[in-house]
Amino acid sequence: MTELPARRLLLVHAHPDDESINNGATMARYAAEGVHVTLVTCTLGERGEVIPPQLRELTGPALGAHRRGELTAAMAALGVHDFRLLGGPGRYGDSGMMGLPDNDAPDCFWQADVDAAAASLVEVILEVRPQVLVTYDDDGGYGHPDHIQAHRVAMRAAELAEAAGWRIPKVYWNRVPRSVAEGAFARLRDELPGLPFTRSAAVSDVPGVVDDDRVTAEIDGTGAPAAAKAAALRAHATQIEVAPGDRYFVLSNELAQPLFTTEYYELVRGGPAGESAGGPAGNRETDLFAGVDDTAEAA
Ligand SMILES: [Zn+2]
Repeated sequence: MTELPARRLLLVHAHPDDESINNGATMARYAAEGVHVTLVTCTLGERGEVIPPQLRELTGPALGAHRRGELTAAMAALGVHDFRLLGGPGRYGDSGMMGLPDNDAPDCFWQADVDAAAASLVEVILEVRPQVLVTYDDDGGYGHPDHIQAHRVAMRAAELAEAAGWRIPKVYWNRVPRSVAEGAFARLRDELPGLPFTRSAAVSDVPGVVDDDRVTAEIDGTGAPAAAKAAALRAHATQIEVAPGDRYFVLSNELAQPLFTTEYYELVRGGPAGESAGGPAGNRETDLFAGVDDTAEAA
């Protein structure tokens, strides 16, 4: 069997850029610590809206190919070498926002058979044998069909992998504590006049915001991981514009939002013995591998 580092982290995301927005600091920090970080992205995001006017001619497969290049650059910024597209490049198409006719395209990810897509992910899980899986909640964080589907496929794959011989000890969903989001948007509103953006998004625009007591882990990316995250976000130039100073960014809706350098999670499977899950900041895990026995190689 392939020799892999003792600690292994798997992240499952819908489109290129989601990994950097949600987990960029976490990925950079763990990669720098020698953890084997694997990213599986489910689609190439070929229905995404493009920000730079000079790139707006890119649509469909051409945009997908371009975004694949952006993803490669983002992973270089984060120091992540193992990144894959679910089922191979172009296997699943971007489904577009909820309610659009795009959702009905037979090759889009939303129309994919969950068990078949999960089977592709199980292959990765059995190869990498991660101790930690990170994905979205059952609403995909904010209701995008591809994010919901990524959640379903990731959770189903964890189940199928267990039956096939590898139980992932810990599973997390991406979160932002409501108080953190509210505080960050209050600062954003104060600082907006100094930013290259004219309007602010709202707390409700941020995926995965929940009451603070549901958040069980926080990963502090202050320093090099935060810088790597900002660089990774900039690599996704068709989708993201980062303001100078690296504290705010916009998506194609041009609404400013905070760039979180501490990233938050809700543990939904497993847990360190004797540690309480959830609650105020002081009780949260500060390491996604807390309590994991990384000498155990068999399920
Ligand atoms: Zn996405």
